[in-house]
Amino acid sequence: MNDLDNNSVSHLDDLELAMAADLLVENRYEHLDPVVSNHIEECEVCSEKLMKLADVVDEMDEQDSTLLPDVKKTKRVPNDWLLAASVVFLLILSFVVWRGRQEYQELSMKYKVLVDSVEQSESKQLRLEELEKSLERIELQQDSLEKIREEIAMNENAIASLYVPNQNLEEEIARSLRSGNLELTSPVETDYQRNDHLTFLWESEPAQLGLVVYNNQGLKVKMISSIDKGFVLPLNQFNIGMYYYELYYENELVKINKFNILLDELK
Ligand SMILES: [Zn+2]
Repeated sequence: MNDLDNNSVSHLDDLELAMAADLLVENRYEHLDPVVSNHIEECEVCSEKLMKLADVVDEMDEQDSTLLPDVKKTKRVPNDWLLAASVVFLLILSFVVWRGRQEYQELSMKYKVLVDSVEQSESKQLRLEELEKSLERIELQQDSLEKIREEIAMNENAIASLYVPNQNLEEEIARSLRSGNLELTSPVETDYQRNDHLTFLWESEPAQLGLVVYNNQGLKVKMISSIDKGFVLPLNQFNIGMYYYELYYENELVKINKFNILLDELK
């Protein structure tokens, strides 16, 4: 009740006001507790209440009121006046407090609804943002999947191009089949892997032959002027793809054939 500089003013309670009103009506105001009278001097709210209360007490003093018979009967007894004034003031006060509390409750309900709806919309917004982010992630993944697919397709095309038969060399094979040639007993297989090798073996003469290897582009990738029977050609020196080999005897083509070097999974 003393801190008036502060906004949270602690005003006089009803008992203090009633006592002050009583003393005021009885012209004994100087007997009032100085703390209370100081507050009344400084506080508009409490001094106004005191004046109203004093009027009520004064009226009750003059009237032959039947409202509060006990009070009237012993109206000059300060304690009873205190009681009467307190009852009146308490009624006023409790009404004010009740009204205030109702308004406060209504307001706080509205506030709570408002806060809830804000929180709900915020959490909805957050969920939306999360959804959008995961959508973006999915789109990014799809993009990179698409790129990977493109790369695979490009690689597949590149790989397939390594196995496209060479037209000129194919025609040469066809011609050599018609003209009859060297009886080659090895190699007989067509498909190999890079860790395989070709072994060149033939039945009859000559003892040595010349060897040339082409890729499917018709480029010479290997040339050995003289190989013996049983010559081993390791394939790890070549890339995957389709190849052709030619065997020569004294600058004359005696055998032409082809072989594939496959990827492990393609075999
Ligand atoms: Zn006050």
